[in-house]
Amino acid sequence: MIVTVDGPSGTGKSTVSKAVATRAGLPHLDTGAFYRAATLAALREGIDLADSDAVVDMVSGMSMDQDNGLMFLDGEDVSTEIRGECVTNAVSQVASHPEVRRILVSHQRAWVAEQGGRAVVEGRDIGSVVFPSATLKIYLDARPEVRAIRRATQVGEDPDRIIEDLARRDHLDASRDASPLTTPDGAVTVDTSDLTFDQVVERVLSLISAKS
Ligand code: C5P
Repeated sequence: MIVTVDGPSGTGKSTVSKAVATRAGLPHLDTGAFYRAATLAALREGIDLADSDAVVDMVSGMSMDQDNGLMFLDGEDVSTEIRGECVTNAVSQVASHPEVRRILVSHQRAWVAEQGGRAVVEGRDIGSVVFPSATLKIYLDARPEVRAIRRATQVGEDPDRIIEDLARRDHLDASRDASPLTTPDGAVTVDTSDLTFDQVVERVLSLISAKS
Protein backbone atom coordinates (compact mmCIF):
# COMPACT_ATOMS: atom_id res chain seq x y z
CA MET A 1 0.00 0.00 0.00
CA ILE A 2 1.61 3.22 -1.20
CA VAL A 3 -0.48 6.38 -1.03
CA THR A 4 0.92 9.41 -2.82
CA VAL A 5 -0.15 12.94 -1.91
CA ASP A 6 0.91 15.66 -4.34
CA GLY A 7 -0.06 19.30 -4.69
CA PRO A 8 1.15 22.86 -4.18
CA SER A 9 1.91 24.35 -0.76
CA GLY A 10 -0.85 25.65 1.46
CA THR A 11 -3.25 22.84 0.56
CA GLY A 12 -2.74 21.07 3.90
CA LYS A 13 -0.62 18.37 2.27
CA SER A 14 1.70 17.82 5.23
CA THR A 15 -0.83 17.87 8.05
CA VAL A 16 -3.30 15.77 6.07
CA SER A 17 -0.65 13.21 5.02
CA LYS A 18 0.62 12.84 8.58
CA ALA A 19 -2.89 12.40 10.03
CA VAL A 20 -3.85 9.93 7.29
CA ALA A 21 -0.64 7.93 7.84
CA THR A 22 -1.25 7.73 11.60
CA ARG A 23 -4.90 6.69 11.19
CA ALA A 24 -4.07 4.14 8.48
CA GLY A 25 -1.08 2.75 10.42
CA LEU A 26 1.36 3.61 7.62
CA PRO A 27 4.79 5.29 7.78
CA HIS A 28 4.85 8.89 6.48
CA LEU A 29 7.51 10.44 4.23
CA ASP A 30 7.81 14.18 3.55
CA THR A 31 9.88 14.41 0.37
CA GLY A 32 9.97 18.24 0.41
CA ALA A 33 12.21 17.93 3.47
CA PHE A 34 14.88 16.23 1.30
CA TYR A 35 14.91 19.15 -1.14
CA ARG A 36 14.98 21.56 1.79
CA ALA A 37 17.87 19.72 3.46
CA ALA A 38 19.87 19.76 0.21
CA THR A 39 19.18 23.50 -0.09
CA LEU A 40 20.27 24.15 3.50
CA ALA A 41 23.54 22.30 2.89
CA ALA A 42 24.22 24.26 -0.32
CA LEU A 43 23.49 27.59 1.41
CA ARG A 44 25.73 26.68 4.35
CA GLU A 45 28.58 25.80 2.00
CA GLY A 46 28.03 28.93 -0.08
CA ILE A 47 27.50 26.91 -3.27
CA ASP A 48 26.07 28.74 -6.29
CA LEU A 49 22.57 27.21 -6.49
CA ALA A 50 22.49 27.66 -10.26
CA ASP A 51 25.66 25.55 -10.66
CA SER A 52 24.09 22.13 -11.04
CA ASP A 53 27.43 20.22 -11.05
CA ALA A 54 28.47 21.81 -7.76
CA VAL A 55 25.08 21.10 -6.16
CA VAL A 56 25.12 17.50 -7.45
CA ASP A 57 28.67 16.95 -6.09
CA MET A 58 27.58 18.14 -2.70
CA VAL A 59 24.31 16.16 -2.64
CA SER A 60 25.96 12.92 -3.70
CA GLY A 61 28.30 13.10 -0.69
CA MET A 62 25.56 13.71 1.87
CA SER A 63 23.64 11.25 3.99
CA MET A 64 19.94 12.02 4.46
CA ASP A 65 17.35 10.30 6.55
CA GLN A 66 13.91 10.88 7.96
CA ASP A 67 12.91 9.38 11.27
CA ASN A 68 9.71 9.98 13.21
CA GLY A 69 9.01 13.13 11.21
CA LEU A 70 12.51 14.56 11.81
CA MET A 71 14.92 15.28 8.94
CA PHE A 72 18.59 14.36 9.40
CA LEU A 73 21.45 15.69 7.28
CA ASP A 74 24.71 13.82 7.85
CA GLY A 75 23.27 12.77 11.23
CA GLU A 76 22.30 16.33 12.31
CA ASP A 77 18.64 17.10 13.06
CA VAL A 78 17.85 19.98 10.67
CA SER A 79 14.03 19.77 10.96
CA THR A 80 13.61 23.34 12.24
CA GLU A 81 16.28 25.01 10.16
CA ILE A 82 14.94 23.70 6.84
CA ARG A 83 11.64 25.58 7.44
CA GLY A 84 13.40 28.97 7.53
CA GLU A 85 12.75 31.70 4.97
CA CYS A 86 16.18 31.46 3.30
CA VAL A 87 15.66 27.78 2.53
CA THR A 88 12.02 28.31 1.45
CA ASN A 89 13.05 31.03 -1.00
CA ALA A 90 15.86 28.97 -2.53
CA VAL A 91 14.50 25.42 -2.55
CA SER A 92 12.72 25.51 -5.93
CA GLN A 93 15.99 26.36 -7.65
CA VAL A 94 17.79 23.38 -6.11
CA ALA A 95 14.79 21.15 -6.93
CA SER A 96 14.99 22.14 -10.60
CA HIS A 97 18.26 20.24 -11.26
CA PRO A 98 17.40 16.83 -12.79
CA GLU A 99 20.46 15.05 -11.36
CA VAL A 100 19.74 16.38 -7.86
CA ARG A 101 16.21 15.00 -8.21
CA ARG A 102 17.53 11.63 -9.38
CA ILE A 103 19.67 11.29 -6.24
CA LEU A 104 16.93 12.45 -3.86
CA VAL A 105 14.33 10.23 -5.52
CA SER A 106 16.61 7.22 -4.97
CA HIS A 107 16.85 8.11 -1.23
CA GLN A 108 13.05 8.39 -1.10
CA ARG A 109 12.46 5.03 -2.79
CA ALA A 110 15.04 3.36 -0.52
CA TRP A 111 13.31 4.81 2.55
CA VAL A 112 9.95 3.36 1.49
CA ALA A 113 11.56 -0.01 0.65
CA GLU A 114 13.06 -0.07 4.19
CA GLN A 115 9.54 0.39 5.58
CA GLY A 116 8.45 -2.73 3.72
CA GLY A 117 7.12 -0.88 0.69
CA ARG A 118 4.18 0.72 2.50
CA ALA A 119 3.84 4.45 3.21
CA VAL A 120 2.01 7.70 2.70
CA VAL A 121 4.42 9.81 0.63
CA GLU A 122 3.87 13.53 0.02
CA GLY A 123 5.51 15.87 -2.46
CA ARG A 124 5.20 17.29 -5.96
CA ASP A 125 6.18 14.38 -8.26
CA ILE A 126 5.33 11.35 -6.16
CA GLY A 127 2.42 9.93 -8.14
CA SER A 128 3.92 10.99 -11.47
CA VAL A 129 7.60 9.98 -11.08
CA VAL A 130 8.61 8.48 -7.73
CA PHE A 131 5.80 5.92 -7.36
CA PRO A 132 3.81 5.93 -10.63
CA SER A 133 2.25 2.53 -9.73
CA ALA A 134 1.07 3.62 -6.27
CA THR A 135 -2.07 2.00 -4.87
CA LEU A 136 -3.77 5.37 -4.46
CA LYS A 137 -2.81 8.80 -5.79
CA ILE A 138 -4.23 11.96 -4.25
CA TYR A 139 -3.82 15.48 -5.63
CA LEU A 140 -4.65 18.12 -3.02
CA ASP A 141 -5.55 21.55 -4.29
CA ALA A 142 -7.10 24.77 -2.93
CA ARG A 143 -7.86 28.25 -4.21
CA PRO A 144 -4.77 30.53 -4.09
CA GLU A 145 -6.25 32.95 -1.55
CA VAL A 146 -7.23 30.10 0.77
CA ARG A 147 -3.72 28.66 0.53
CA ALA A 148 -2.16 32.05 1.28
CA ILE A 149 -4.31 32.58 4.37
CA ARG A 150 -3.49 29.10 5.69
CA ARG A 151 0.21 29.62 5.11
CA ALA A 152 0.13 33.10 6.64
CA THR A 153 -1.56 31.75 9.77
CA GLN A 154 1.05 28.99 10.00
CA VAL A 155 4.07 31.32 9.75
CA GLY A 156 2.52 34.47 11.26
CA GLU A 157 2.87 36.69 8.18
CA ASP A 158 0.82 38.95 5.94
CA PRO A 159 -1.31 36.93 3.44
CA ASP A 160 -0.73 39.52 0.67
CA ARG A 161 3.01 38.91 0.79
CA ILE A 162 2.58 35.16 1.11
CA ILE A 163 0.30 34.99 -1.96
CA GLU A 164 3.15 36.36 -4.09
CA ASP A 165 5.67 33.89 -2.63
CA LEU A 166 3.30 30.99 -3.25
CA ALA A 167 2.61 32.11 -6.81
CA ARG A 168 6.34 32.39 -7.50
CA ARG A 169 7.10 28.93 -6.04
CA ASP A 170 4.10 27.32 -7.81
CA HIS A 171 5.22 28.80 -11.08
CA LEU A 172 8.80 27.51 -10.66
CA ASP A 173 7.62 24.05 -9.52
CA ALA A 174 5.02 23.67 -12.29
CA SER A 175 7.08 25.07 -15.17
CA ARG A 176 10.43 23.32 -14.61
CA ASP A 177 11.51 20.70 -17.16
CA ALA A 178 12.39 18.01 -14.61
CA SER A 179 9.38 16.35 -12.97
CA PRO A 180 7.15 19.43 -12.77
CA LEU A 181 4.27 19.66 -10.33
CA THR A 182 1.34 18.09 -12.14
CA THR A 183 -1.80 16.09 -11.44
CA PRO A 184 -0.56 12.50 -11.85
CA ASP A 185 -2.38 10.07 -14.16
CA GLY A 186 -5.07 8.29 -12.20
CA ALA A 187 -5.00 10.73 -9.26
CA VAL A 188 -8.09 11.71 -7.31
CA THR A 189 -8.17 15.50 -6.91
CA VAL A 190 -9.46 16.78 -3.58
CA ASP A 191 -10.10 20.53 -3.43
CA THR A 192 -9.66 21.38 0.23
CA SER A 193 -10.78 25.05 -0.02
CA ASP A 194 -14.21 24.53 1.50
CA LEU A 195 -13.52 21.43 3.56
CA THR A 196 -12.40 21.20 7.18
CA PHE A 197 -9.18 19.37 8.00
CA ASP A 198 -11.18 16.44 9.42
CA GLN A 199 -13.31 16.22 6.27
CA VAL A 200 -10.21 16.02 4.08
CA VAL A 201 -8.67 13.32 6.27
CA GLU A 202 -11.90 11.31 6.27
CA ARG A 203 -12.19 11.61 2.48
CA VAL A 204 -8.65 10.29 1.94
CA LEU A 205 -9.17 7.49 4.48
CA SER A 206 -12.35 6.42 2.69
CA LEU A 207 -10.45 6.33 -0.60
CA ILE A 208 -7.79 4.13 1.10
CA SER A 209 -10.49 1.80 2.49
CA ALA A 210 -11.96 1.42 -0.98
CA LYS A 211 -8.54 0.19 -2.19
CA SER A 212 -7.87 -2.23 0.70
O1 C5P B 1 6.56 20.56 0.39
P1 C5P B 1 7.56 21.65 0.63
O2 C5P B 1 6.98 23.03 0.58
O3 C5P B 1 8.39 21.42 1.85
O4 C5P B 1 8.56 21.52 -0.61
C1 C5P B 1 9.59 22.45 -0.78
C2 C5P B 1 10.00 22.50 -2.24
O5 C5P B 1 10.67 21.28 -2.58
C3 C5P B 1 8.90 22.67 -3.26
O6 C5P B 1 8.54 24.02 -3.47
C4 C5P B 1 9.53 22.05 -4.50
O7 C5P B 1 10.37 22.99 -5.15
C5 C5P B 1 10.43 20.97 -3.94
N1 C5P B 1 9.84 19.63 -4.01
C6 C5P B 1 9.93 18.97 -5.20
N2 C5P B 1 9.50 17.68 -5.30
C7 C5P B 1 8.98 17.05 -4.22
C8 C5P B 1 8.85 17.73 -2.99
C9 C5P B 1 9.27 19.05 -2.93
O8 C5P B 1 10.40 19.52 -6.20
N3 C5P B 1 8.59 15.78 -4.33
